[in-house]
Amino acid sequence: MADIVFRNVTKRYGATIAVDDASFTVNDNEFFCFFGPPLSGKSTMLRLVLGLETPDSGEILIGGSPVNTMSPAERNVAMVFQNLALFPHMSARDNVRFPLVEHRVAEAEIEKRVADVAAKLHIGHILHKPPAQLSGGERQRVAIARALVRDPNAYLMDDPISALDARLREETRVELKRIQRELGKTLIYVTHDQEEAMSVADRIAILENGRIRQIGAPAEIYDRPASTYVARLLGSPMMNILKSLRGEGGVEAAEGAIRIADKAAPADAVEIGVRPEDIKVRPWSDGEISEGGVSDGRAGRPARVFEVEPLGGYTVVTLAAGQARLRALLRGQPDIRPDAMVAISCEPGRVHYFGQSGAALGR
Ligand code: ADP
Ligand code: MG
Repeated sequence: MADIVFRNVTKRYGATIAVDDASFTVNDNEFFCFFGPPLSGKSTMLRLVLGLETPDSGEILIGGSPVNTMSPAERNVAMVFQNLALFPHMSARDNVRFPLVEHRVAEAEIEKRVADVAAKLHIGHILHKPPAQLSGGERQRVAIARALVRDPNAYLMDDPISALDARLREETRVELKRIQRELGKTLIYVTHDQEEAMSVADRIAILENGRIRQIGAPAEIYDRPASTYVARLLGSPMMNILKSLRGEGGVEAAEGAIRIADKAAPADAVEIGVRPEDIKVRPWSDGEISEGGVSDGRAGRPARVFEVEPLGGYTVVTLAAGQARLRALLRGQPDIRPDAMVAISCEPGRVHYFGQSGAALGR
């Protein structure tokens, strides 16, 4: 059992609060992800778990035991650092063996564990090579194998695949997910890539300036972001967040281009959020809806197509409505051109409401 618990943990560097009163539990066997912009406290969280930093206040427990006064070795948590420093003069095999040799594990056990981890990471065929003869992705896998071989209580990874090119990152994150599941160990993972966080994590903790803003399963955070801050972090293109006004029979945004017939909309909403995939776009035809009029209770004024990005399986359309810009994600390759006039709409149930502070409003 290696759940990891933070109780009101704060860590300061001088006047900077790197981690601000964090309380959360990472469950045993969980793939838990910290996600946030640079300097939001992600690496500090990991260093606190590892024992490279001690909290100024609060308590950390690993597997039920308080670890504040334990050394990193006593905590038995393995870290994969951002810069994958393999020993250049050693073969991949000796790199992977190194932590076990250091801990004086018996030779037969070393061989068994290296073979095991090499099979899981598909590196058996390259173990004889020195790092200089390996590709970036292979070096990555060797470095991960070196961390996994020790059989620790939990693994920590700090943006371990950020140096890889996009295609290799996509492959490696799928492997990481499979490896974590097979190992059945707690993994705390840091990434700055929202798609990677959503793809790998059982749960994500969203950080802002050392504070945890939301914790939940990726789909939960995506569907019910607690604030405009969180809403903007997950999703690409990001959620459209627009100033809103109460109008006749509902809510208006984007200078009247969006009208939502939602009498139950929270009265204190000042902004609405609509995911690009929830925006419907259809050609504007004269007379269909009279200018400024509301024929079906939902249609608004026309918007103009500002730009079209065909991405193969889907198309991103940027729309202009007065000063407002919004983006719609359409399936396939619709016949839509810049400067066309269109009608836009969205289901009332797909609209997020936010108050003055940016907090999501319950309904
Ligand atoms: P992230 O990993 O999300 O980029 P960090 O945890 O590295 O964020 O940093 C969080 C905050 O703590 C930042 O403001 C950073 O400047 C500060 N910080 C981190 N480590 C140190 C340190 N060793 N000395 C001083 N400030 C630090
Ligand atoms: Mg960092």
